Amino acid sequence: MKYLTLIFPKLPVTAMALYPFLIFKDPESTGNSVIVRHELIHLRQQLELLILPFYILYLFNYFFNLCFYRNHDQAYRNISFEREAYAHDHDVVYLQRRRWFAWTTYLVLLKS
Ligand SMILES: [Zn+2]
Repeated sequence: MKYLTLIFPKLPVTAMALYPFLIFKDPESTGNSVIVRHELIHLRQQLELLILPFYILYLFNYFFNLCFYRNHDQAYRNISFEREAYAHDHDVVYLQRRRWFAWTTYLVLLKS
């Protein structure tokens, strides 16, 4: 998957995907295959949702989770897009075998 790399030292997170860019806080992270794969999964999610709806659904999912979990970290980790990305960011062939809209299988609420 083609993407453009940006380095933005003031980024509040390690990396983020903003189609067609992968934005990194520091240059070393661009060589971290797990981080890059995680963000590439997000680029694929963005593409299949035609980009803007991804961000709307992402925020909706986050705020819905925040009401449910009442905890930022749990709300973030349980966003369906994040659950898919974290579940597969160590799998080097995941993006080759990934089904369209795979993130929908992660649309469940989990109480821990
Ligand atoms: Zn993520």
